[in-house]
Amino acid sequence: MTLLKAAPPLAQDVDLSKTYDAVIVGSGAAGGMAAHVLTSQGMQVLLLEAGKKLPIEQELRSMQWPYDHPRRGDAPPGYHALSFNEYTIRTPPYAKNSTFKHVMSYVGGWGGSDYVKNILVDEKDHPYTGTKYAWVRARALGGKTNIWGRLALRLSDYDFKGKTHDGYGDDWPIAYADLEPYYDKVDLYLGISGVKENLPHLPDSLFQRPNKLTFGEVKLRESLKKMGRVVTPYRAGVTTDGLKHNRYRSKCYGRGACDRRPGGCDIHAAFDSPTGLIYPAMDTGHLTIRTNSIAHEVLVDRNTGKARGIAFVDSATRKSYEAKAKVVIVAASTLESARLLLLSRSPQHPNGIGNSSGHVGHNFCEHVMGPGVTGLVKDLVGKPPTLDDGRPGGFYIPRFRNLKDRQPGFVRGYGFEGSGGFSIFPGNALGTSGFGAQFKKDVRDHAGAFIGMGGFGEVLARYENYVDLDPDAKDAWGIPTLRFHYQFGDNERKMCEDMVVAGREMFEAAGIEVVGTDDKMLTEGWSIHELGTARMGSDPKTSVLNQFQQSHDVKNLFVVDGSSHVSASCQNPTWTIMALAWRSCEYLASEFKKGNV
Ligand SMILES: Cc1cc2nc3c(=O)[nH]c(=O)nc-3n(C[C@H](O)[C@H](O)[C@H](O)COP(=O)(O)OP(=O)(O)OC[C@H]3O[C@@H](n4cnc5c(N)ncnc54)[C@H](O)[C@@H]3O)c2cc1C
Ligand code: SF4
Repeated sequence: MTLLKAAPPLAQDVDLSKTYDAVIVGSGAAGGMAAHVLTSQGMQVLLLEAGKKLPIEQELRSMQWPYDHPRRGDAPPGYHALSFNEYTIRTPPYAKNSTFKHVMSYVGGWGGSDYVKNILVDEKDHPYTGTKYAWVRARALGGKTNIWGRLALRLSDYDFKGKTHDGYGDDWPIAYADLEPYYDKVDLYLGISGVKENLPHLPDSLFQRPNKLTFGEVKLRESLKKMGRVVTPYRAGVTTDGLKHNRYRSKCYGRGACDRRPGGCDIHAAFDSPTGLIYPAMDTGHLTIRTNSIAHEVLVDRNTGKARGIAFVDSATRKSYEAKAKVVIVAASTLESARLLLLSRSPQHPNGIGNSSGHVGHNFCEHVMGPGVTGLVKDLVGKPPTLDDGRPGGFYIPRFRNLKDRQPGFVRGYGFEGSGGFSIFPGNALGTSGFGAQFKKDVRDHAGAFIGMGGFGEVLARYENYVDLDPDAKDAWGIPTLRFHYQFGDNERKMCEDMVVAGREMFEAAGIEVVGTDDKMLTEGWSIHELGTARMGSDPKTSVLNQFQQSHDVKNLFVVDGSSHVSASCQNPTWTIMALAWRSCEYLASEFKKGNV
């Protein structure tokens, strides 16, 4: 059963003989937001998306109980999700020589691969080379927003002005005050749940009804107050009160399929780009979309050096086409956007379009994760079950390191994501010894008493961490692939060591028995928060874009995704990607009307 409120709007015919006001590449958080803002300003927009338009409710099946699925959520035979060991022992391309017919990123093995097997790319068709990297890609209308984890956080001036604070890296060309009105617009247009905490380093949103914390989580919150730290309910990019202006989304009624990670919400309470942004933009009559359209070059006017459109190949027919537009907006996600810019070589732009600085692909950053702690809340052992996982997330502990203090081993900080209480599958069953009635009683008695959390830390932006085009490797459509030159450094390692110590310390202070710690740093890429490959800045020699995500070199070219971020912060990026895209596209629309782009 699905509670979809309204069917998707009918698509307009694509007219490739026409010059659109703007062409957008990619339909995820960034491309969807660009489509929303530009069409609301009356611009005629064509959106090109490499993936298919999937019958997404049939893919996600959020209402399906595990026992109603023939394989409890597993994909059919022939599918394989990459494991941690494959990412660490082998080097990319990971699917090369695999005997499986289809190979997915690790997210496919993360609790329900049948639900994501058509959303994630098949690694066999989409190889990459170079250093180890767990690159998670979703090629479908809406991109990764179809299955994202929903943690929706703002950045603060500790992030935008990081260099001023601690001397490392570069400040962003904007401050929090520049973005705050756009964060507010995103909150109100898309819906976000949470609780105000008045923290300078994690600004509050305009929240709808929050999720409730469980008993163990409240216990941790009360204890951490004494340490000056905060446990706040998961700030979920989910509408909990509903959105009167959007007929494609329903409010969250807490059935908890989100707990089946990767989530995906087929009533669209959780934000996804198609129902949140693209369908409403189509309703304006100004948006045309073309799926199965793989952009491989930003076309250039040989007289002016300006962008004139996009060359793309149809993924199904393999035929080549050109889309013409007065403005080109690249929003293919951080790494794919860098790839497209680098692919777009011309006499005017020999290193790739927008790359006179040589910074495209560089300053690549993200989040490091892995270390965490698991605890037992003894007061809960043997207590009756409660419905704890009927919510779109557990809790978040905002950064507490290197705010007023200076840590000896590392700069910047990390936050923890966690949850406690009963979940759809009692994970403790796997580690409980014994058998028969006593085994079942032990599992049931302890099932709701566990609490766990894992750190997400800022990976420093470094010029020497970069991607470029592999001179030999190509994808299934003959387009050159990315080659990674990227690895974590000492700052990340020290930060991860601290996560384990701090996690243990917080649980112990709350009287939660620590039953396990994980000090393993996961492979590069695991956070799925890649950023920085076309950064903003005021100096065209050391940055690719200005503060409005507009190319320094080509004024009718904008890159509105996470590639523009100057540093990674430790907060999850999607809400910031959308606030920035809103700000830039508002600027673009106003400059367009004045004839300035
Ligand atoms: C399992 C999971 C959990 C996550 N959890 C969180 C979270 O809790 N909080 C958070 O902030 N973020 C989270 N993220 C990350 C979040 O999904 C991304 O930050 C966000 O989707 C980025 O938006 P985007 O538009 O840049 O990229 P995407 O959403 O990836 O969209 C890019 C689109 O461009 C298309 N495209 C790519 N190349 C081309 C091309 N050449 N031509 C045409 N189209 C192209 C792709 O097919 C895709 O549809 C998570 C991601 C995943 C997968
Ligand atoms: S808990 Fe809410 S957001 Fe999550 S799947 Fe259910 S309805 Fe959607």
